[in-house]
Amino acid sequence: MVDLVKRFGDTVAVDHVSLDIYGGEFFALLGPSGCGKTTLLRMLAGFETPDAGQILLGGEDLSRIAPYERPVNMMFQSYALFPHMTVEQNIAFGLQMEKMPRPRIRERVEEMLALTRLEKFARRRPDQLSGGQRQRVALARALAKKPKLLLLDEPLGALDRKLREATQFELVNIQESLGLTFVIVTHDQEEAMTVSTRLAVMRDGKVAQVGEPQEVYEAPSSRYVADFIGDVNILAGRVGEGGAIELEAGGTARCASATTRRAGSAVALALRPEKMSLALVEESGERGDNTLIGRVEDIAYLGDMSIYHVRVAPDTRIKVARTNRFRAAEREITWDDEVKLAWDASALVLLQD
Ligand code: ATP
Repeated sequence: MVDLVKRFGDTVAVDHVSLDIYGGEFFALLGPSGCGKTTLLRMLAGFETPDAGQILLGGEDLSRIAPYERPVNMMFQSYALFPHMTVEQNIAFGLQMEKMPRPRIRERVEEMLALTRLEKFARRRPDQLSGGQRQRVALARALAKKPKLLLLDEPLGALDRKLREATQFELVNIQESLGLTFVIVTHDQEEAMTVSTRLAVMRDGKVAQVGEPQEVYEAPSSRYVADFIGDVNILAGRVGEGGAIELEAGGTARCASATTRRAGSAVALALRPEKMSLALVEESGERGDNTLIGRVEDIAYLGDMSIYHVRVAPDTRIKVARTNRFRAAEREITWDDEVKLAWDASALVLLQD
């Protein structure tokens, strides 16, 4: 995609987006409602025409190819299945429209049924299937024409959490076994991180950051991305002499990248809740750089872990995630305890904006 633009009246739905999606990858477009991700996907499918820019697939300009002739297919949510047709008829439909010879259609349908583990349900109608099975029919139908590029628009939105997770892994397995390029649109960051090899976080029609899930999580470029992908604490500060950062919440932070900023400049640092340790002040010894002192105000018990909300300054509360493993010798940290938060310099990310 090169410098793509799409407007609807006064709304700029897609605002000069350039993105490279590599062959054979599972790419996720991630962002909140209204950020333009569906419009971008619909332009790839050919359902919307860009106002400017180009979409190239293997060097070929897609805008010259009619939607039905593009080597691209879109998987819709399962309610778009034909209700009066059986599973195999649903899968065969697009191939019949293409006038594929009957024996080849049979063969292709068998292949798709096996791929999506639907052999036993070939003669059922969609209303005789579970939600997860219907979803697999929708996938089999979208893959039947063997597109080079499969587009998935919030495909798992209708499924409950457990089924959603299982289906995410199925999607990845199918994508890997076929070696096709998948592009998924989702507003669910966990889903995007689970399925994708790379993802783009979108904001107001623009791409805020592109990268592998781990890269975007570990090194978000902006407050927006840090906040959208996972939970994060933002620490405000000012660069002092020698590159140390004086935190507004008290104390001094050191992170490798801050040394490039001029002394006196205001900075914002991202710090993930799971990258900090928590200890009672009375047991924690010296206070050095990369620490904060505060008081525990709230604790959310989540089973495998707890989230501690620690007041470190009148206007700053920090979230710390702590696994609830067995701790025989320690006194449990609880409400109102005075605690020391500590982290590694490598845990701090200097945000660009
Ligand atoms: P959602 O997750 O809610 O579908 P999205 O990120 O996919 O959101 P889009 O559907 O691409 O966002 O919409 C981007 C912007 O373009 C929104 O402001 C939306 O209102 C507008 N928009 C999208 N389609 C149309 C249309 N056909 N006519 C007018 N405005 C549109």
